[in-house]
Amino acid sequence: MTTNRPIQTKVENSVVEIIWCDGCLEDDRKVEAIVYCHDCKENQCEECNTMHKIRRFLKHRRTDPKPSL
Ligand SMILES: [Zn+2]
Ligand SMILES: [Zn+2]
Repeated sequence: MTTNRPIQTKVENSVVEIIWCDGCLEDDRKVEAIVYCHDCKENQCEECNTMHKIRRFLKHRRTDPKPSL
C-alpha cells in the first residue's frame, strides 16, 4: 500500500532572519552571510569573505553577521 500524499515541509512560525551578503546583493544574488566585517561595515558570504582575505584585508575584524538597519 502506497501513500500518494505529497511530502509537506513543516512551516515553522519562528522568524528565521537570514542575513544576506551585501556584496552579492549588489549583484542581485542572495547568499547567506557568514561574517560581518567591522572595517568594511558589511556582511559577507563565504565566497566574498575568501575574496576579502585575498584582497589583503586580513586585519579586518570579523564577527557574526548582523542585520543591517
Ligand atoms: Zn557574497
Ligand atoms: Zn573588511
